[in-house]
Amino acid sequence: MTEEKKIPYKIYLEESEMPRQWYNVRADMKDKPAPLLNPKTLQPMTFEELQPVFCDELVRQELDDTTAYFDIPQEILDFYKMYRPSPLVRAYCLEKELDTPAKIYYKFEGNNTSGSHKLNSAIAQAYYAKQQGLKGVTTETGAGQWGTALSMACAYLGLDCEVYMVKCSYEQKPFRREVMRTYGANVTPSPSEKTQVGRDILAKYPGTSGSLGCAISEAVEAASVKEGYRYVLGSVLNQVMLHQSIIGLETKAALDKYDIKPDIIIGCAGGGSNLGGLISPFVGEMLRGEADYQLIAVEPKSCPSLTRGKFAYDYCDTGMVCPLAKMYTLGSGFIPSSSHAGGLRYHGMSPTLSKLFDDKYMEARSVEQTSVFAAAQQFAKVEGILPAPESSHAIRVAIDEAMKCKETGEEKTIVFGLTGTGYFDMMSYAKFNDGIMSDYIPSDEDLAKGFASLPGIDL
Ligand SMILES: *Cc1c(COP(=O)(O)O)cnc(C)c1O
Repeated sequence: MTEEKKIPYKIYLEESEMPRQWYNVRADMKDKPAPLLNPKTLQPMTFEELQPVFCDELVRQELDDTTAYFDIPQEILDFYKMYRPSPLVRAYCLEKELDTPAKIYYKFEGNNTSGSHKLNSAIAQAYYAKQQGLKGVTTETGAGQWGTALSMACAYLGLDCEVYMVKCSYEQKPFRREVMRTYGANVTPSPSEKTQVGRDILAKYPGTSGSLGCAISEAVEAASVKEGYRYVLGSVLNQVMLHQSIIGLETKAALDKYDIKPDIIIGCAGGGSNLGGLISPFVGEMLRGEADYQLIAVEPKSCPSLTRGKFAYDYCDTGMVCPLAKMYTLGSGFIPSSSHAGGLRYHGMSPTLSKLFDDKYMEARSVEQTSVFAAAQQFAKVEGILPAPESSHAIRVAIDEAMKCKETGEEKTIVFGLTGTGYFDMMSYAKFNDGIMSDYIPSDEDLAKGFASLPGIDL
C-alpha cells in the first residue's frame, strides 16, 4: 500500500525521456497483414500506384513492413513538445469511487485544441506534404476531430486544407466547423455537388446524412483533380498507426519509470489508430515473446466491425475509388445510424489491428451508447475531465473490468486510452441528460445489406 502511494497522480516524461522514433509493429509480425490491392488488377498496390494519392514519404511508410523504428523528424518533435508528452494519469479518484482493488491508469490525449490524439498524425502528414513542396491536402472528417487536427497542422506549416465533413456532423457540430475555418480550412458538407462521386451518391440516396466512406471518396477525388494536392487520412492506414505509436511509446516509458506492468490495455476502436498506437509497443513485446497482456478493443454496438463484421477484402470508401484492404468490415455499403460517437462510425478497421485480432492477440467488445454515456458521466464527476463519447467506450470497459476485480479481489492494473474531450458533443450529452438517448443495434438483416456490398475477393 505504501509502495503504491509513491505513484503520482500524473506521470510525466522529461523532454530527454520522450520517444524520438515511431515504432512499426508490422516489423515484428511474422504473419504480415494482407497488402492493399489495386481494385482493378487485384495485385498489391505499388509505390507508383499510391504516389498520385499520398505523399511519397507516407507511401514509403505505408508499404514498409520490415523497418521497426522510424526517426521522427526534428520539426515534428518540436511541434510535439507544444502538447506532449500527454499525461499518464493514475485514476485514484475513480478507483475510490468504484471501491475497486484494481489500479487504473489513463493516457489523456485531449490536451490540445483539436481535443484528440489525431494531431499526432496530422502534423506528421502535413509535414511530409510540405517537404514534398505540395500546395495543400484534402481529407474527410466524421465528427470533426481529424479535420480540426489537420487544419491546425496545415495552418502551422502554411498548407492549404480542404475538408469534406460528413453532413450530419456538419449540421450537428457547427462549432467544430468554425474551429476548422478559424484555422483557415475550407469545409464542405459531404456528400456534396463538388465531386462526381458526391453527385452520384446524392442521386442514389437523396437526403442521406453521409458517411465517412462517402466523404473519403470525395476527398480522394478532389485531391486527384487538383495540381499540387494529395489526400490524407486520419485513421485506418499503417502510416497513421505508425505516427500514433507515440501514444504507446510514451505510455510504456512512463509505466517503466515506476516499474508498472499493465495486465489489461483498453482502447476505443473506430478505424483503429489510437488503439493501434497505444498497444503497439506492448503487442511488439507479445509478438517477440517477451510479455503478455490482455488487449481489448471497444466499439459501439451500432457499428460493430470487429465483433460482428467479416474479415475480408473490402473497399475503404463508399465510392470504391480507394485501394482494397483486408480488414474486419461491415461492408463499404453499410451506412451506420447517426450514432453520436461520430468518430467510431467507420465500416472497416485498420488491416494491422484486424490481423492482430484475427490472430487472437487482441479481443473486442461492443457496448451500447447509453451505457457509454453513463460511464462518461461517472468518470467526469470524479476525474474532472469531460470525455469524448468515443473515448467513453474505453471508459465503459475499464469500469467493467475494475468492477470484475472488485468481485474477485484481484488487483489488476488497467490502462486505457482517453482519446479526447467532449466539449463539442454537448448535444449528445443533452440527449443523455434528458433521458431520450436510444441504443440502436443493427439487425442481422441490416448487416446483411452491408455484407452484400463486399467485393467477394478471397485471397
Ligand atoms: C477519431 C477518434 C477516435 C477513433 O479513431 P481511431 O482511429 O479508432 O482512434 C476515438 N476518439 C476520439 C476522441 C477521436 O477523435
